[in-house]
Amino acid sequence: MIARVSLEIALRKEFDYAIPPELEGRVDVGTRVQVPFGPRKVLGCVTALAEESAHARLKPIIKVIGAQTLVTPRVLKLARWIADYYCCAPEIALKSVLPEAVRKEDAAWRERLFVRALPVSGEFPKLPKRQLEVWNIIEERRELSLTELLTLVETTASTVRRLEDRGLIEIATQVSERDPYAREEILPSVPLVLNPAQAKALDAITRAMNQSEDGGSNMEDGKSRPSSTLHPPSSTFLLFGVTGSGKTEVYLQAIAHALAQGKGAIVLVPEIALTPQTVERFKARFSQGPQQTLVAVLHSHLSAGERHDEWHKIRQGRARIVIGARSAIFAPVEPLGLIVVDEEHEHTYKQEEAPRYNARDVAIVRGQMEGTVVVLGSATPSLESYHNCKRGKYTLLELPERVDNQKMPFVRVVDMRQAARGGKGPPIFSTQLKEAITQRLERGEQTILFLNRRGYSTALECTQCGYVAQCPNCSLSLTYHRPEQKLLCHMCGYVEAVPAVCPNEKCKNPSIRYTGLGTQKVEDTLNKLFPKARVQRMDSDLLKRKEDYRRILGDFRVGKIDILVGTQMIAKGLHFPNVTLVGIIYADMALHQPDFRAGERTFQLLTQVSGRAGRGDVEGEVFVQAFTPFHPAIQHARRHDFVGFYEQEIEFRQQLNYPPFRRVALLTLKGHNEDKVKFSAEHVRKELDKLAGSAIRDLIIAGPAPAPLLRAESLYRYQLMLRTGQMSKLGQSLAALMAMLTLPEDVTLTVDIDPASLS
Ligand code: ADP
Ligand code: ZN
Repeated sequence: MIARVSLEIALRKEFDYAIPPELEGRVDVGTRVQVPFGPRKVLGCVTALAEESAHARLKPIIKVIGAQTLVTPRVLKLARWIADYYCCAPEIALKSVLPEAVRKEDAAWRERLFVRALPVSGEFPKLPKRQLEVWNIIEERRELSLTELLTLVETTASTVRRLEDRGLIEIATQVSERDPYAREEILPSVPLVLNPAQAKALDAITRAMNQSEDGGSNMEDGKSRPSSTLHPPSSTFLLFGVTGSGKTEVYLQAIAHALAQGKGAIVLVPEIALTPQTVERFKARFSQGPQQTLVAVLHSHLSAGERHDEWHKIRQGRARIVIGARSAIFAPVEPLGLIVVDEEHEHTYKQEEAPRYNARDVAIVRGQMEGTVVVLGSATPSLESYHNCKRGKYTLLELPERVDNQKMPFVRVVDMRQAARGGKGPPIFSTQLKEAITQRLERGEQTILFLNRRGYSTALECTQCGYVAQCPNCSLSLTYHRPEQKLLCHMCGYVEAVPAVCPNEKCKNPSIRYTGLGTQKVEDTLNKLFPKARVQRMDSDLLKRKEDYRRILGDFRVGKIDILVGTQMIAKGLHFPNVTLVGIIYADMALHQPDFRAGERTFQLLTQVSGRAGRGDVEGEVFVQAFTPFHPAIQHARRHDFVGFYEQEIEFRQQLNYPPFRRVALLTLKGHNEDKVKFSAEHVRKELDKLAGSAIRDLIIAGPAPAPLLRAESLYRYQLMLRTGQMSKLGQSLAALMAMLTLPEDVTLTVDIDPASLS
């Protein structure tokens, strides 16, 4: 037999290898293998088995990785789709479907020495006192790890070995599974009685799940199904409900239904929402009680070993429910009864390096391939998904009210142009927001302040010569970080010391000035304005370790913090009943991005952040500080009016042929030499013009133009934006184009299909 192998080194080609006799029966489609390639040994994945090969004298496979096929045929199919649609090499797509720890097997099962009591045959021997003490403990516990035993009885391994010599105990290695949540004490939860809207949503979802269960076997008209639709048509739902409307409870009960059908479920949440709180809710429902099911968790904060173990629990079918970030969509759950994508509009579902897939869209494709019901959930659906409901592609389910009829927070928009009048430029806090904070402090209630920019000041300028501290590698000004006394590039990480005088040799002016606002300055100003308040900042500068996040949220929950200041890290998924005030310091910041989604993003962000207020008995209040207070994104967010926003925005998208009416592909050329990059981009444009004239008639080409950030990490970047209604076709043409294109040596071309951002 011969195995066709896709190698991990990107060659866009598969190679044949012989299966040596000693590996016979262990190599299948999806098996991970190590093979010789030239003088090297490389890893790869078997994509097919064959009887014969076009090549003579095949080299044999060196070894098989893992005891089980790692890539299931279904996931393999999904990887192929990703390679085609997102225009990337198949081996890159294949690589991304397994966690690194599983692919390389270097974080294999952790084996530990365990001590076990053996049944005593005949008369119990007379033991020295010490040995008897040790034996008593082992007998009582039946089995425990050697390390645990040694610390318990404060003895050495040799004492224990003596018991082994007497045949009383056995010491053997055993796999000890890492459980990232082992220290968590999770109380079981029971399904809640649903309100009518929830019940209606759940009913629609479970009915679709039952239908896909029946498969094509009970077609009502009695006609047989064409073989191309082996799976029943999948159903995709959009569960549109404000924050706190009980979406998660619907997910939980739909998952219970999947389990009752003997199937598993995948729940995707944005990385940022993968808080212990979220995970606990799923574990509490399913990991406790009589019908225990393991819930596996996959995200980037786990250690390699933990990820390895979690993944194998899924592959072995022991964990039927997976909750995770983006890449959890590749979890080998079989059979798969349900996929949930929470906060489906989130941009973190898009991977920013190859393969540049969007996990939400991959979820829908996987659902179609496997006949699995997909539920997308959001309080602020993406325009694409809502539009798909309007077109009848998805089914819209609505939860219009908060559970327990809690009111939506009252949102006030503060016109910062007025606040800025009378001299010194805009203040950080308007009078209204300051008063509201004072009130909360007096009443012992909590406040969240949001500003999506870390650091202290965003620029350092010289008032005399106009010098601005810039990153030498990027076209970006350096951010001043006060606690560390450093200037930092947020793009490439470049650091330099804070100058005492203007660095311009001819100027050397001592009065340099910091402008622009970051979270550090907000924190600082709060401490000055409210010296008695307990203020805590939360942004990625502060959270170097995974415990920090947990600790701060814990402190906030128990009321040790009065005011929490943070970036988008605090915008989502947190539930704190005592928070009655949310302040958005600079609401129009995201509006100034050169991106057709700027309005949509601002609307989403304001709505999400506002949702943090008033989740307890007291009605919440939100202050939105803005310089463009009448912008539709801000006004619709103020009224909690998604549909109004959608209707206005969709018109603009249609007029300009933006998604969801056309799809976008962004081509970026990068290189050290600007002229070469520009020239290459123009060359690509000419090739694309040919396409537009023949294969893809509706193709709209914009550019080449310098990227919004012309230079990043020392590379100049030029872009072309393509729009078409026939993306699969364009993808094929682009793949062909890239294969024949010859670019100058240090110029690279990347293709991003359905980009999340245009920068
Ligand atoms: P969402 O996911 O839409 O933000 P959640 O599912 O988290 O909403 O629900 C918000 C709160 O309401 C949670 O504390 C949840 O336990 C509670 N809840 C949800 N559904 C019900 C229900 N049917 N009856 C009582 N409480 C509920
Ligand atoms: Zn930089």
